[in-house]
Amino acid sequence: MSNISFTPVKSSRLNEIDFDNLKFGNVVADYMFMADYYDGEWHDMRIVPYQNMSVSPANMAWHYGQAIFEGMKATKAIDGTPYLYRPEDHAKRLNFSANRMDMPSFPEDMFLEALHMLTDINKDWIPVKEGSALYIRPFMIAFDNNIGVRPSYTYRFMILNLPSNAYYTKKLKLKVEEKYVRATIGGVGNVKNAGNYGAAMYPTSQAQKEGFDQVLWLDGIEKKYIQEVGTMNIFFVIDGTIVTPAIDGAILNGITRKSIIKILKDKNYPVVEKALTIDEVIKAYKDGKLTEIFGAGTAAVVAKVSSINYKGINMELPSHEMSILIKQEVDGIRNTTLEDKWGWMVKVNPKEKLV
Ligand SMILES: *Cc1c(COP(=O)(O)O)cnc(C)c1O
Repeated sequence: MSNISFTPVKSSRLNEIDFDNLKFGNVVADYMFMADYYDGEWHDMRIVPYQNMSVSPANMAWHYGQAIFEGMKATKAIDGTPYLYRPEDHAKRLNFSANRMDMPSFPEDMFLEALHMLTDINKDWIPVKEGSALYIRPFMIAFDNNIGVRPSYTYRFMILNLPSNAYYTKKLKLKVEEKYVRATIGGVGNVKNAGNYGAAMYPTSQAQKEGFDQVLWLDGIEKKYIQEVGTMNIFFVIDGTIVTPAIDGAILNGITRKSIIKILKDKNYPVVEKALTIDEVIKAYKDGKLTEIFGAGTAAVVAKVSSINYKGINMELPSHEMSILIKQEVDGIRNTTLEDKWGWMVKVNPKEKLV
């Protein structure tokens, strides 16, 4: 028996949803998971109908930003069996983020139990069209009603499920950001906290007004080393080698990034993780050696980059061979048409069947 309580919906909203026209992030499945932290422990784990909740205007999360999240996916195999992608890695990263933000960890076994039960009860919400998935959004927020600056004593942890079609289908025009920075080593760039996104909105909007899609972030000190693109990790194909910035404490340690490195190494492609400068990338472009750039993250999986602009100079990147190969590999593992060599796909197996 699970100690997660359950409240059924009066009627499912499933038949109101147009699965052919899902916009990322605005359709939430029937059920959500919730738990509350007080007196030093997590309490009242529950799966309940997705609905609004009541929160004090003095809630500390929106005053001081103790707010972290994860982003992961569930997909269906061709035979319809639901699977989670690398759930343990997401559980670990959630707690890495919690620790840095001085928030309590959510025990991994409880997180996995909640994920399996929630995904199972929402399984009819997992879309099956190519490139689509059930996007899973676990998050934790401070829950004290107090305007004093200190870590909250109480927290709320929740998981939402959102069916989504393929994300970022268009090719990205990148602007190398020279004025604003996203993160520095020692800060919180390697943490999935809400504030990182808040800080990125303005520079991204400015870049979009100039006709770009996303910014390519450079390091916060020398503005020399490449970090990430928008909210994704980034890969370059230079002279046949796949190069990506090394995890340095400012970059988010992406699970898609890790998967891609593993897949490429397994296929004997040369992959290098290092401190990569923008000058090296520009030089490689001028020498005709930079053939491709792509972003990598859970939502988009792989986002092709069509051009990169540095100091007003536009560099076109017409080739997307590696992006296509990688996307096929990851999608193939996710829909079980390719072998899952490393056990990344975990079959949804609830401790208890709720219905
Ligand atoms: C989540 C995230 C990524 C990608 O991580 P995945 O685990 O691959 O989804 C990259 N950069 C930032 C800033 C992120 O928040």
